[in-house]
Amino acid sequence: MPGEPQDDCLFCKIVAGQIPATIVRETETTIAFRDINPQAPTHVLVIPKVHYRDAASLAAAEPVITADVLREAQAVADEDKLESYRIVFNTGAGAGQTVWHAHAHVLGGRGLQWPPG
Ligand code: AMP
Ligand code: ZN
Repeated sequence: MPGEPQDDCLFCKIVAGQIPATIVRETETTIAFRDINPQAPTHVLVIPKVHYRDAASLAAAEPVITADVLREAQAVADEDKLESYRIVFNTGAGAGQTVWHAHAHVLGGRGLQWPPG
């Protein structure tokens, strides 16, 4: 069933509490936790609790939860007192996606170059 937990999904395991994570925020529909390999002073992943392979698939199936993810990204930025930050949804292996459960990277706390690499 679309949105159901996947046995082989790392982030579904974090949602289920089977793998530890440094959780910074949790709502009924989302979890935010620190990236294990941070690329900036703030590098938090905001994920929906439901499983979809990427952001666009999540948006197509669950527009309200997609908005929850974006609202939580702002809440993470507020908690870390970021005036500016970047939200990244890597989509596809060629763009660097390695975990196939939709997630927003929230990056900030240092100067962020544009365009990104
Ligand atoms: P992406 O490459 O866009 O799919 O992002 C996946 C992110 O998950 C990477 O930035 C990884 O560093 C991060 N990551 C992988 N395993 C963990 C973990 N156990 N806890 C927190 N972050 C993780
Ligand atoms: Zn998953």
